[in-house]
Amino acid sequence: MISDSEFARRLYYEHEDYAETNLTKKRFKHSDIISLINRIKNKNKFKVKKAGSSTERREIFLISYGRGKTKIFLWSQMHGDEATATMAIFDILNFLSSKNEFEEIKGELEKNLTIYFMPMVNPDGAELFQRRNAFGIDINRDALRLQSEEAKILMKYIKKLNADFAFNLHDQSTRYSVGKTFKPATISFLAPPFDENGKMNKVRTDAAKLISSLCRLLSEFIPGHIAKYSDEYEPRAFGDFSQKFGTATILIESGCWKNDPEKQFIRRLNFIALLCSFKSIAEKSYKSKKTAMYNTLPPNQEFLKDIIFRNISINRNGKKYLIDIAVNLEEVNTRDSEGSFYSSVIEDIGDLSTFYGCEDHDFKGLTVEYGKTYTEKKYVDQELANLDFNDLYKNGFTNVLVKDPENSEFSKYPINLVKGGLKELPNEIKTDSPANLIFRKKSVVKYVVINGFLFSIDNSAGEIKNGIVY
Ligand SMILES: [Zn+2]
Repeated sequence: MISDSEFARRLYYEHEDYAETNLTKKRFKHSDIISLINRIKNKNKFKVKKAGSSTERREIFLISYGRGKTKIFLWSQMHGDEATATMAIFDILNFLSSKNEFEEIKGELEKNLTIYFMPMVNPDGAELFQRRNAFGIDINRDALRLQSEEAKILMKYIKKLNADFAFNLHDQSTRYSVGKTFKPATISFLAPPFDENGKMNKVRTDAAKLISSLCRLLSEFIPGHIAKYSDEYEPRAFGDFSQKFGTATILIESGCWKNDPEKQFIRRLNFIALLCSFKSIAEKSYKSKKTAMYNTLPPNQEFLKDIIFRNISINRNGKKYLIDIAVNLEEVNTRDSEGSFYSSVIEDIGDLSTFYGCEDHDFKGLTVEYGKTYTEKKYVDQELANLDFNDLYKNGFTNVLVKDPENSEFSKYPINLVKGGLKELPNEIKTDSPANLIFRKKSVVKYVVINGFLFSIDNSAGEIKNGIVY
């Protein structure tokens, strides 16, 4: 049998052979997984059953694999906008049902384990790409009261399966850093507590041992990007319940990886982490591991902003001041699985030397001012595509007037569109304003920021994905 690290390495390089090609972006819906489930039904490796129905009567499935004594239960996407692990589960199902060079390992998994998958516990939330269920209830705060249909189903199977191990699969804020570092927490783990005192027992220790071995394996691919999720006891959460119930439970939170807004790289890490866990549980190799690596994981911290511009000078009342500016970009839910738009905000101004930016720019020697609106002309939609944007930027403009814009909050052009009154427009650099900035060296414009997106005038570097409509 190959070693765990060799297995992890091969999975890392061969993931694309198994990646489910019908799921390539995080905004997919229940209807997208139905066809995949139907395909699985025809494969004799799996048993598929209906576990129940969501609030809006969408079917929730339970898929099982193997005939072994040791039971593993995985559930994903109980928060509808946390889709990374659902994609990984379908990759794993492809892996388990393909003919490949891992027949020996798969034989061991099949013989020793029965693995139960419950992907997309919250299909109504996934439909709208929102955290909560159709009635606005957070399913992961409903493990005690059990009012939501989805929580009832999940609880039923946690109790009925009475698994040896459980994996509670989520996505976390993309702004968590690994302790006080500039590295985003790409994966955070937790062996959830089962009481207020944070005590360890055999069950929780098994979870911590397994996490320690996963940290070692994943560190090869994402060194320094693994953290520990908050271990405060939350009795209404399913992970905490499951640990208390006696199932060794592991929380995996998928966070941020640079230039991976669709979470495709982190999906690959989930694929590796889960398959390596199955191998370790089947071989019982986790038992001989120590918990040291888990115990010393740095906690999730909030030292990250999306972008920081540093050491800029700003003129106020004829005086010069030195400031840093932090900008965050929010992905806005457009209920459209194809495209997503962004909305920016100036998050902080001042001395930000104790924070880090996912993008961090030292703009020493540059001055900053707020972007202006070009008012000489009102454009109709057809004219916008032919505008000389560079020329507008060079003259300090981040907005243009429009006659009849499409009915949208967002501009598909690399400039903001103004259809309403000029008076209400934000016109100075302050917190909570959209990030429309002009950076000059002496009097020459060097960089422009439109709705949080940076563009360099000198070398045309950077992409302004969308502006906003005022
Ligand atoms: Zn979650």
